[in-house]
Amino acid sequence: MKSVNNSSVLIIYTGGTIGMVIDPESGAYRPFDIEHLISGIPELKQFDVRIETLSFDPPVDSADLKPEIWVRLADTLKTNYMHYSGFVILHGTDTMAYTASALSFMLKDFNKPVVLTGSQLPIQTLRTDGKENLITAIEIAAERQNGKAVVPEVCIYFQNKLYRGNRSTKINADYFNAFDSPNYPPLADAGITIRYRNELIRYPDYDKIPTVHTNLDSNIALIKIFPGMARRVVERIIETENLRALILETYGSGNAFTDEWFLNALKNANEKGLIILNITQCKGGAVAMDTYETGKKLEDAGAISGRDMTTEAAVTKLMYLLGSGLTVEEIKVFAQLSLSGELTM
Ligand code: ASP
Repeated sequence: MKSVNNSSVLIIYTGGTIGMVIDPESGAYRPFDIEHLISGIPELKQFDVRIETLSFDPPVDSADLKPEIWVRLADTLKTNYMHYSGFVILHGTDTMAYTASALSFMLKDFNKPVVLTGSQLPIQTLRTDGKENLITAIEIAAERQNGKAVVPEVCIYFQNKLYRGNRSTKINADYFNAFDSPNYPPLADAGITIRYRNELIRYPDYDKIPTVHTNLDSNIALIKIFPGMARRVVERIIETENLRALILETYGSGNAFTDEWFLNALKNANEKGLIILNITQCKGGAVAMDTYETGKKLEDAGAISGRDMTTEAAVTKLMYLLGSGLTVEEIKVFAQLSLSGELTM
């Protein structure tokens, strides 16, 4: 039997629209005291769940977010690990998928739910989507079965769907369904009841002790290719000093233009130890470099396949791997494996 009874949830407000109010003078959104906002939601009192809150001071618009915030979040989760059954992180939607992806790599064998949510309209506005997002995120974070969390993963809850964090991406700036995970089905759907898809949920090894990895290296570049890219610009990026990894967002199943200067620049950089990870610009589907000649040439130049990873997962996974003290060859191996369910093998 699933139950939230006697569970406890820590809500960590990092910033974002959900906790903002409209400034009467400027008419723009500004952050507000989250504890005050939450105490104004009477529905939360119906839960038999101990709910506590913690707020970043000052809150950050997620567009301003840096990896230091992930480290701060991971440390906060570690410090509070023993005291709560689950965690809800209130976060701006702009970079929520990056944070969810980063945490999925940084928290090892965490085995408690970390549910990120936010909203498109502030929780105090009449038509807000924030209230339902918050209430259901708390329920998911609190839900246990046989003493264990029902969803022991880092995930994003938004508009009736629970997504694996490192499979999610923001797809809409206007509508309430702001997120999707095109290459992995939702872990749960929330209608009248919350229907969990247990067969899709990743369960940790409960015998292992949870650890938190906070060393990240962001010497990464991301190039989304397009027809007619200037050679000068591309070469400059590839030759950037101390660049350790390059993510190429290519066409379709991993194809790019095959100009000699481009392939030579990649080949030379690869020989000097640059990790070149190929992911697709398509929202759905995976890189398979042996499908077309144009993809094969990238592989020959040293690119490795990111399969069906999102950009958010690719960026944060490389930051995590580069910060792990591994050799270039080891990173190339791990980059192509599923570490936290972020790619399909
Ligand atoms: N700019 C805001 C943020 O990401 C947007 C939002 O919260 O939806 O923090």
